[in-house]
Parts: sequence; structure tokens; C-alpha cells
Amino acid sequence: MEPLLEVKDLATYFYTDEGIIKALDGISFSINEGEILGLVGETGCGKSVTATSIMGLIPSPPGKIVRGSILFKGKDLLSLSEQQMRRIRGKDIAMIFQDPASSLNPVLRVGFQVAEAIWAHLKTPIREAMLKAVELFGLVNIPDPHTAVNRYPHQLSGGMKQRVMIAMALSLNPKLLIADEPTTALDVSIQAQILSLIKILQRDYGSSVLLISHDLGVISTMAHRVAVMYSGLIVEQGRVEGLFQSPLHPYTQGLLAAIPRVDEDISELAVIEGTLPNPINPPAGCRFHPRCPWAMEICKSKRPAFKAVKPYHEVACYAYAD
Ligand code: SF4
Repeated sequence: MEPLLEVKDLATYFYTDEGIIKALDGISFSINEGEILGLVGETGCGKSVTATSIMGLIPSPPGKIVRGSILFKGKDLLSLSEQQMRRIRGKDIAMIFQDPASSLNPVLRVGFQVAEAIWAHLKTPIREAMLKAVELFGLVNIPDPHTAVNRYPHQLSGGMKQRVMIAMALSLNPKLLIADEPTTALDVSIQAQILSLIKILQRDYGSSVLLISHDLGVISTMAHRVAVMYSGLIVEQGRVEGLFQSPLHPYTQGLLAAIPRVDEDISELAVIEGTLPNPINPPAGCRFHPRCPWAMEICKSKRPAFKAVKPYHEVACYAYAD
């Protein structure tokens, strides 16, 4: 079966006075229908640039997609005009951000903003769209939806604003939802509720989800498959169970070893020595080699290719060469 989304060799650069930031330098992954793919990695590794590249929202200048393709239902999004992309955004591919306030218009009532999105994409009369907004607010557990639709964004908490964004996503029943750190800014008690709403969207509406998070716990409970990013590249991907039980890449192993457990003395937690490389001048060869305990001579000069080491489990690392 053809994947819903297929990203191939995608490279997105930013041309700055300091030099070229190679935020993405050739990433490939796919998402099947009804699947949740988790994208994990440290802050600055390129997760959000992946999302904005798919949405066609890379600010240009200074950003530019320099190579690759983004096939959505078999069609390359990079070949579409801005007008064609506008039709796809929201209706076919919706996105929710870490900070929902940045996506809501502060001077418009939140119910109207949801109704307007329904009207713009489905041409539903605005009165009918408002009723739909009330229904959706109830569905995402916003208390007293009839009153809530008349509130402005500043009158809602962060969790409520994120629910409004999810209601907006639900309203158009998108084929793909991109959720970029959707719970990072929220209290732990609210996080679980938001994640369960995303799960409902996937399960009951059949949407696929690209779930971006630095939180491996969130990914392990939500995703079917996971891709691990490091310095603008994907270094490992596979099914959640396999990857979390037997991580292959030393970076993934380091990430998992660094998760604190309740019965563990935090002074004994493993750390990944060093920091993410400068994206303007990343190390040659494997970008992880300055931090890698297994680094070999070849790692310093030649980038390792992706290789399937086990069924549905691929890694880019010379330690797994034949
Ligand atoms: Fe380490 Fe080399 Fe593997 Fe990179 S390719 S992770 S440096 S062993």
C-alpha cells in the first residue's frame, strides 16, 4: 500500500549572514494511513523544520528547500503553488503547535475562528459552522461550549487554547495531523487529556499523525513507529516496541539511558557527552562521531547510509556494517 506521506531526501537550508544552516540535510521517512509516527530528538535537531517544510511554511528568505520531495497521496507538495498549498493546509494536513496562542487570532472569538476555518474549506454557511464549533468544543471537553465559543484567546488557559486548536483540526477531518510538541507548554495533568484527544483523532477519524516531541515517554505511549533525529538527519527508525527495547544507534541508546526512573539515583543517570554540533559547520562523516563512544576512522569522513538491521528497524551507523 502506498504511504499517505513519503518524504524523500529532504534538505532545508537557511541562508544567514553567519553561513548556511543545514537544518535538514537529506531526511527520508513515510507515514501510512491511520499511523502515528513519532519524531524525536534534542531541541535544534530539525524536528520543527521538518514540520514546517511539509506544511510549506518555511520563511523564504532566509529558508529554502534545496532538494528532495514530499509526496502526499502520491503528489509532490513541493511542486504545488501557494494557492494549491493553502487548500491542502487545514483540510488535508492540519498542524497544532507547542504554543497554541501563536496560531489563534487574539482579536477574534475562538468559536468564530473555528467556524471560519470550516466555512473557508467546506463552504458551510457561517451560522451552521458556528453550531458545528459548539459541537466540537463539547467533543474536546471544553466546559460550557456555548459560552466558550464567545471567548477570546486571552480568556482561555493554555490547555483550553490547545483544545480549540484540536477542535479546529477535527472540524476538517484532516488526513494528516502534524502535532509539534503539542503538550510541552502544558501542565502534566492536561498533557494526558490532550494526548488522548490526538489519539481519538487518529483512531475514530482515521487520521495519520506526525507527533513531534523530545519526550520519549510521550512517543512510547502514543506512536506506532518512531524516527530519531540528530543534527538535521534521521539516524534510526523502527517500530516503537523494537526501537525502545533494543535501540541500535548509540545516540538513541544514550537518549533512552538518560530517562530518569523513580527507583534510580539521578547522580547515576547516563549522559551523552558533548552538545549538538553547530548546524552551520557540522562534523564531516557521521555527525555524531565527536560524541560517539564507538567512533571509528571511517566515521570521521563518510556519512553512514541507512541500513535495515532487523525487520522494520533501520539505522545509519558503521557499527552495523556487514
Ligand atoms: Fe558512532 Fe560511527 Fe556509528 Fe556514527 S557511524 S554512531 S560515529 S559508530
